[in-house]
Amino acid sequence: MFRLSRSRPRRRWAPAPASRRKPVLACPACGSDRICPIDWATAGDDHWWLLMHCGECLAWVQATVGNEQAAALDVELDRQQAEIRDDLATLEAERMAADVEAFTTALELDLVYADDFAR
Ligand SMILES: [Zn+2]
Repeated sequence: MFRLSRSRPRRRWAPAPASRRKPVLACPACGSDRICPIDWATAGDDHWWLLMHCGECLAWVQATVGNEQAAALDVELDRQQAEIRDDLATLEAERMAADVEAFTTALELDLVYADDFAR
């Protein structure tokens, strides 16, 4: 059958827990990692100019970063986008479950009839 293990094996590629992960970018005004590039352009062969907006304190920040940091930021943005997508899927599933429960209750209480769906 199943056996309880005290520690879960960790995959080599698994990201570090969020509490231990150093933000790729942090807002210089408030320190939040909820700063997002809004516009960008190359700045020479090895750098990128970024215009960023902080979702926490609403500050606008301009920065120039090297290709390596820009690549790390790109990876982090993909990770954050996947996290948002997963959270959205969870919220949608919870909302749909609540809708089903409300509809089921309405049917059980005879609050809904076939005529309610007629056009
Ligand atoms: Zn900020």
